Amino acid sequence: MTKQFLSIVLLATSVFFSACTQNTITGKSQLSLISDAEIIAAANTEYKQFISTSKVLTAGGSSDAASVTRVGNRVVAAVKKYYADMGKSAELGAYQWEINTVSSKEANAWCMPGGKIVVYTGILPITQNDAALAVVIGHEVTHALASHGKQRMNASLIKQLGGEALSAALANKPKETQALFNSAYGLGAQYGVMLPFARKDEYEADKFGLMFTALAGYNPREAIKFWQRMSAASNSSQKPPEFASTHPSDENRIKQLQSIMDDTMNKYYKP
Ligand SMILES: [Zn+2]
Repeated sequence: MTKQFLSIVLLATSVFFSACTQNTITGKSQLSLISDAEIIAAANTEYKQFISTSKVLTAGGSSDAASVTRVGNRVVAAVKKYYADMGKSAELGAYQWEINTVSSKEANAWCMPGGKIVVYTGILPITQNDAALAVVIGHEVTHALASHGKQRMNASLIKQLGGEALSAALANKPKETQALFNSAYGLGAQYGVMLPFARKDEYEADKFGLMFTALAGYNPREAIKFWQRMSAASNSSQKPPEFASTHPSDENRIKQLQSIMDDTMNKYYKP
């Protein structure tokens, strides 16, 4: 091993370790090759473009949007309180929450890093009530807070650069960061359609999304009924809802929700 090579390895290793942070929601140690500020900037750019090319409904003019805003605000308040109780409010410092309802036949919803939440009206016939809407929003918000997309960006960054250049490669390169963000999230070609997350990320989003649903004062048991309706909607239609194609409502998901339901009810649900 040459001296030069050794020093690169040592440098890379130290950057690697110093780039590890513990996630407040999941408690897991996560690699942080890209700063949250860079990711949130990329997300905000993408979000602005999406909003400017979508039909956005206002809470004043649409009862659908009023429901989304009402439920979204309660879920966000529960998230803020959760972080405050843990003494971790600073971690949400870069979050500027926005909740938008978009008129669309697509049954979909997402939350970007930085707190930009979008619910498509096409999912409302499946949520049917505020509690199920809270389940959906809580799930999507967890994906953002648990940095699931960021972990995917890390993975593609390591793949592209072999781990050598690490975060230095993206420092002060907003264009490259944007491209990486778009490919990790599946955005760009079709605005606002996110790639499916890995099954373990889905399980986390279900688990902590259920907790936020309960903390927001909504009955988490509605999650089971919602996923059953989502499953029925995908079985009965030739083109399954977008949300169902990225969130397979299989038996395992429902079983896992059932296995944590009593615990979630006891610990977090105070109607
Ligand atoms: Zn998900």
